[in-house]
Amino acid sequence: MVKLNENYLKLPGSYLFAEVARRTAAFSAAHPEADIIKLGIGDVTLPLPPACVSALKRAADDMADSSTFMGYGPYEGYAFLREAIVKNDYEPYGVRIGPDELFVSDGAKSDCGNIGDIFSEDCVVAVCDPVYPVYIDANAMAGRAGDWDGRRWTNIVYMPCTGENGFFPELPERVPDLIYLCFPNNPTGMAATKEQLQPWVDYANEHGSVILYDAAYRAYITDPSLPRSIYEIPGAETCAIEFGSFSKTAGFTGTRCGWTVIPRALERGGESLYDMWMRRQSTKFNGTAYVIQRAAEAVYSPEGKEQTAGMIGYYMENARVIRSGLSEAGLETYGGTDSPYIWFRAPGDQDSWSFFDRLLDEAHVVTTPGSGFGPSGEGFIRVTAFGDSARTREAVERIKSML
Ligand SMILES: *Cc1c(COP(=O)(O)O)cnc(C)c1O
Repeated sequence: MVKLNENYLKLPGSYLFAEVARRTAAFSAAHPEADIIKLGIGDVTLPLPPACVSALKRAADDMADSSTFMGYGPYEGYAFLREAIVKNDYEPYGVRIGPDELFVSDGAKSDCGNIGDIFSEDCVVAVCDPVYPVYIDANAMAGRAGDWDGRRWTNIVYMPCTGENGFFPELPERVPDLIYLCFPNNPTGMAATKEQLQPWVDYANEHGSVILYDAAYRAYITDPSLPRSIYEIPGAETCAIEFGSFSKTAGFTGTRCGWTVIPRALERGGESLYDMWMRRQSTKFNGTAYVIQRAAEAVYSPEGKEQTAGMIGYYMENARVIRSGLSEAGLETYGGTDSPYIWFRAPGDQDSWSFFDRLLDEAHVVTTPGSGFGPSGEGFIRVTAFGDSARTREAVERIKSML
């Protein structure tokens, strides 16, 4: 009989969101009259910017005409989109990345997971704790995580991000080969400064490690002194791969478009990582749909920029309402100023699930328990700013009166 990839069989069930849904459904069944507000969602709710919808329709018309029809596109994405990303998301920040150092993809999640294909199965992987689960699970599937002991993977280097270190990891003692960093962070909502990132870049260059930098929330940075790209840090071009996404920037979660930057200067053992990823993509990926790349290009049109800024402003106003309301209620809150996530400590040393239950039972508000993102998330709760503004205000008022 065929042998299965046993690494998959070691994976614990995706417990977090299933358990949130289960408890919410149980509460709802017991209290059908309760008006439940969901502040747990990690998905955008506003529709696509009109500029993107128009571009999508124009591109659909291109496909209907033999003179403008597009078949297979370049593996690395169309030049029009790669050039637009470089011109708008890198050049203004002083980053000298060329369009020939960038791959368009169907989103950051696939790239964050698939990038492992070009690295050895023996690589040691480090992640922040709490963490976006994709980084760990994708490496567990590839056999890099060791065994699940009920709380942790035996071969993953967990880097605690807690109140004590300002939710920014310390350089680990055991030197990892691959280091996942994500700023602004999901779930903590904390952004990183250039001064915080510089030692990581120096460390990776010194040890030959590679930083895998997830910049999916870059558009939520409001403080102009904070870096939107790891390449704003000197030396990053020889040690970092960066992932970008239109999902949270422009509401593309269901439309699917992102990118990965691999600088030409990034080599290990004399091998170009750009060339290796090109080999991987040209074998296993046939590109992002032309119509989608046209829609993504429109994010950078004058109307697209104005519309996406409006969307982000809407979510960030929610974040401000949540953060200030929860602080007024006496909660210790983090994030929410350069990110759509607010991370707060459950009062009175309660664990994450106990306070989740209390918020559901008494305020009828659904959140996400921090412990679901890793052991160091215990005692915290994540709330998101992706909801409707009136409902968000209502939820915050309910939590304030509950406390
Ligand atoms: C939402 C999110 C992404 C975006 O993934 P896509 O596949 O581009 O939709 C990437 N990283 C993190 C941490 C996220 O929360």
